[in-house]
Amino acid sequence: MSLRFYNTLTQELAPFAPQDGKTVRMYTCGPTVWNFVHIGNLRSFTSQDILRRWLRYRGWELRHVMNLTDVDDRIIQQAVAAGQTIYDYTDTYAKAFFEDTAKVRLEKPEIVCKATDHIPEMVSLIQSLEHNDCTYLSEGSVYFRITKFPEYGKLSHTHFEGNKAGARVDTDKYDKENARDFVLWKARKEGEHFWDTPLGAGRPGWHIECSAMAMKYLGETLDIHCGGVDLVFPHHENEIAQAEAATGKPFSRFWIHTEHLMVEGQTMSKSLGNFYTLRDLLDKGYAPEAVRYLLASVPYRKQLNFTFDGLKAAVTAMERLRNYELRLTTSKFADGVNPKMTERAKTAIDQFEAALDDDLNTAEALGAIFEFVRDTNTAMDSGEFLAGDVTAARDLLARFDSIFDVLKPTVAGGAISDTDVDALIAERAAAKKSRNFQRSDEIRKQLLDQGVILEDTKEGTRWKRK
Ligand code: AMP
Ligand code: ZN
Repeated sequence: MSLRFYNTLTQELAPFAPQDGKTVRMYTCGPTVWNFVHIGNLRSFTSQDILRRWLRYRGWELRHVMNLTDVDDRIIQQAVAAGQTIYDYTDTYAKAFFEDTAKVRLEKPEIVCKATDHIPEMVSLIQSLEHNDCTYLSEGSVYFRITKFPEYGKLSHTHFEGNKAGARVDTDKYDKENARDFVLWKARKEGEHFWDTPLGAGRPGWHIECSAMAMKYLGETLDIHCGGVDLVFPHHENEIAQAEAATGKPFSRFWIHTEHLMVEGQTMSKSLGNFYTLRDLLDKGYAPEAVRYLLASVPYRKQLNFTFDGLKAAVTAMERLRNYELRLTTSKFADGVNPKMTERAKTAIDQFEAALDDDLNTAEALGAIFEFVRDTNTAMDSGEFLAGDVTAARDLLARFDSIFDVLKPTVAGGAISDTDVDALIAERAAAKKSRNFQRSDEIRKQLLDQGVILEDTKEGTRWKRK
């Protein structure tokens, strides 16, 4: 089976390859940098990280763009309340975003761009729309007239019967019920941040930034555009209208949307007291890799119901895989290769790849790995797993970890020093001598958590870093 994704635009699973046969040009609607990233946001961004890694695994190069929304109504209000410029206010949260996403091991997209750095590009796109007679001016603001784009609604698959010209919406807030003419450029308001441009003094509406930046860095037709499902309407519908009404070309070939994360079956919200940022979970003592594991484990098109039991189960599952890796690395197996094990590893790779090729079915991919772990653990117990089988098993784990990236523990405060490793090894030897195996096992585990693998040999204990 070849790689295929579900495309919101066509409502079908379709084979995927980049249009130039080499580099995938993809765009992600990034965070609004007005607060710390929450686990719902992270679910979307983690699914896009899995997508990135899988595309690369399949041999494609990546040119991935992510924007930072650093000007909108909420930002302006919050910055005013904090007595800061929008630049100072958003800078704090942009930095925090990259710190947090690095903790859950999200690769940084090739290009990260801020809305406020692209005002001229937005102005020029709005001018093209003006030129194509798709806009009108009202009280100094420029609106997109959606009746000029008959395909409006094609992404959300909605026929907006009641589209009335002149029904306008000029806030950045979502309006899921009605299609309305949306604002491209907002006239300056007293006390608000503004730019002097050929369109007049003001600031951009929210939607225009993504069309302008996506086309600047990726060309008029992208391979993939991603975001959470809440963005399908109106944001992505508006992005399509802005881009296609200006260029006459399809804006993106694939639209990939991540379902929402819920908490204990409910929408996450501050008022319900079930709202968690990544920082909240780390403060409770959870490892960032466990959060990553949990977020990645549910296929992106299914709702993810976050619970603390689920997070604990993720910790356990991750530990099982790490213990398995430790067993592989440190056990002494009898010499030789068991062809049955070679075959077993090959089947696991096939299943793992088929699952991810099938619209990134991460649950099935994990299933393939765990079945392999179970079968080979049994074979190790019965002596059927041989020293020559280790390489294939490690290769499978490496493939797994190139996508899921959870096997190496996060080292708090930097790597442990060689001297400290040697001291712990000496302590472990002493513990063993006095038959305190609990302590010696603890030390082995402690070192493993810091990325140090021990190997007991006749000459003593050797160690290496992972
Ligand atoms: P924002 O910072 O609000 O612009 O959102 C950043 C990304 O997070 C967007 O792709 C949203 O669709 C996504 N998102 C927001 N809430 C959730 C949620 N509860 N579950 C999954 N994705 C979400
Ligand atoms: Zn966007």
